[in-house]
Amino acid sequence: MSTTCALCARAHTLDATSGWMLATAHWGVSPHPALQVPGWVAVQTLRHTEGLGTLNSAEAQTLGPVLSRVSVALARATDTKHIYTYSLGERVPHTHILMGPPGHGLRGREFLDRLLRRDEALVDRPVAERIATDVAALLSRMRADDAADAIMDLRQSRRRRVLDSMPAPQRTKVLTLLKFNPDSAGGLMNVDVIFCGTGATAGEALALIGVAQAVQPEALLQMHVLNENRQLAGVVSVIALLQAHPADVVAKLMDSGPVRVTPDADLADIAVLMADYNSHTIPVVDDGDRVLGVVTVDDVLKSTIPDEWRRREPGPRPAREPISVRDDSICSNGGDWR
Ligand SMILES: [Zn+2]
Repeated sequence: MSTTCALCARAHTLDATSGWMLATAHWGVSPHPALQVPGWVAVQTLRHTEGLGTLNSAEAQTLGPVLSRVSVALARATDTKHIYTYSLGERVPHTHILMGPPGHGLRGREFLDRLLRRDEALVDRPVAERIATDVAALLSRMRADDAADAIMDLRQSRRRRVLDSMPAPQRTKVLTLLKFNPDSAGGLMNVDVIFCGTGATAGEALALIGVAQAVQPEALLQMHVLNENRQLAGVVSVIALLQAHPADVVAKLMDSGPVRVTPDADLADIAVLMADYNSHTIPVVDDGDRVLGVVTVDDVLKSTIPDEWRRREPGPRPAREPISVRDDSICSNGGDWR
């Protein structure tokens, strides 16, 4: 990694704030800091790469789904059919792809000329910020792993029809998940994962968890700490982060030899590991130790409950008097709560 690379620096600082509109294991999407044109974002690799030809296979495979998803979100947030995409790499060699709508009644080359010249007339910071918020919300709404589970429950003949009716970005993500055996780690995992760099502080890690609305809450119980090669360096629990001083560095707090599985680990392996290590989540890594996803205890429980348990008549649930909570009733009727 080059220490003078602006986009590497950005990848590190954005971990610490809520700057990413979307962060996957390999890609980050954020508003372009020098291009406050409404609807324009930069899609960049999280590690230092110099052009599409230098991507590793995981980055290359995940780029399509990211671009597709961002394009849909941008088109919806800006109410535009056309989303321009360009990547020059002349001034900043770090792989980044700029995407956004035409504007100001300008199209095609006329618009791009002015965009490349950083024409101040195109800049509208408040509108750019509002659209960025909308795009982030749109990007966070899709939970591909839930959709994949639902589709696996359909008869084979119906799956194709349902898949074809899904928006393209989500379909791509679901198809990625479906390639794995549903009872393997790859089939069970959530692909939206929370992570930070080894240099992040406890306070920064908690801030990331705080804004990760796109991630299944059960998958937020552990922060994954990645080294500069995006490999799993350790995990740290939310409890440990909460109990630490906000300025403590996660590298000092983390378990640096966490249990992990590969996508082909089966359900029994994962369940036994979770029980043995008292883990609520287990990261799924590829051959290069890069995080692909995370399996939660909730995913394992859902898959291990025998079908006949679901078919039983539900047992009696404990009945409870509804409790009314009024400010003045808590102390007077609620017993001694000191
Ligand atoms: Zn870089």
